[in-house]
Amino acid sequence: MSLQVGMVGAGAGAAAATYTLCTSRSDVDVTVFEKSRGLCGRAAARRRDRTVYEYGANYLKDAGGRVSSLITDAFDTGLVEVDGPIWTFDAGGTVSEGRDGDARRWTYEDGITRLAKHLFGATDAEIERQTRVSALHRDDGWRLATADGSTHGPFDALLLNPPAPQTAELLEGTGIDAIDRLGEAAATVTYRTVWTAVLGYDFEIDAPYYALVNADKDHEVGWIGREECKPGHVPDDKSVLVVQASPDWSTARYNAPPEDNVADLARHAANIIDDQRLTDPDWTDHQGWRYALPDDGLRDGVHQGAAREDVYVTGDWVAGAARLHAAVRDGLETGEHMASSLADG
Ligand SMILES: Cc1cc2nc3c(=O)[nH]c(=O)nc-3n(C[C@H](O)[C@H](O)[C@H](O)COP(=O)(O)OP(=O)(O)OC[C@H]3O[C@@H](n4cnc5c(N)ncnc54)[C@H](O)[C@@H]3O)c2cc1C
Repeated sequence: MSLQVGMVGAGAGAAAATYTLCTSRSDVDVTVFEKSRGLCGRAAARRRDRTVYEYGANYLKDAGGRVSSLITDAFDTGLVEVDGPIWTFDAGGTVSEGRDGDARRWTYEDGITRLAKHLFGATDAEIERQTRVSALHRDDGWRLATADGSTHGPFDALLLNPPAPQTAELLEGTGIDAIDRLGEAAATVTYRTVWTAVLGYDFEIDAPYYALVNADKDHEVGWIGREECKPGHVPDDKSVLVVQASPDWSTARYNAPPEDNVADLARHAANIIDDQRLTDPDWTDHQGWRYALPDDGLRDGVHQGAAREDVYVTGDWVAGAARLHAAVRDGLETGEHMASSLADG
């Protein structure tokens, strides 16, 4: 008999965990429940005409170690390097040539979501998209209730990948001490909110950098990236700016009319880049990320107790770093931990 594992969320952490779990154990069947239509969570991409743009994580940093080895050895189909340095701007909007590390920045030609597609695609995991998990409970195994009124399971083990506050909600009310402790610890992880505007132009922007980051963290804008610096993303005669507002601005304006937010961020981008044509994009898109970047990680020890009850967690907040490569690394390790801890099927 195979072991049944239920996963909540199809972010990069869950994709990496599925990969190591399924490649270490042939007796495990994984079913993933993902509330959205896409894979890879906050590492998100959209397509429009011949343009691809990333509106969550900007890239995967080559941080070395096992994540970089895995990507370059096994999942380099379509992998591209972001071209150009990251410069800085200050509270007054003055741009300077920043101190830029020499680590490579990666994405995939058809979008950063390819990362999760590669990882899941190397397994037989079943993925149920547009299926939001609303609760979990244990009887003769772990059961997952979904928002459409169905119940799934029994599962021998669960892996939860949503951001900490959403994981905390799912962990409420099981009546199991170790699960309560994990839920309480997850509920204490705080997040920065980021509101993203995507601005498309039918002309090329001439600039010597890939991106600008607000170094003193005192501007309404935190980041401006040029998607045309990612091979395969933007046709030659066009430009796409991804403008991420600061956490303070994003929190204050989260529920403001999106068109006002987009116009304000386009105005800021035009002033910082010093090109007034940028106030008038040819097309726009936007996304609010309430739980964008965790400030800290999970308190030591609490997830080991829950693992003894066959409930595991993974993601950037478990790793303690708001970074895609950290989420992938944590997923790889969590999948291996599950493979060695789960009883034989
Ligand atoms: C605006 C922004 C910019 C960023 N920039 C960078 C960057 O440049 N470089 C970098 O390294 N990192 C960056 N990050 C951080 C990076 O995106 C995250 O660290 C990483 O993607 C986290 O992956 P994860 O697997 O932990 O979780 P997530 O990607 O959050 O995946 C969780 C998944 O769970 C799903 N889910 C949630 N609740 C439920 C439910 N109840 N039922 C079913 N499914 C559910 C979600 O839809 C999601 O798919 C950025 C993030 C944001 C938002």
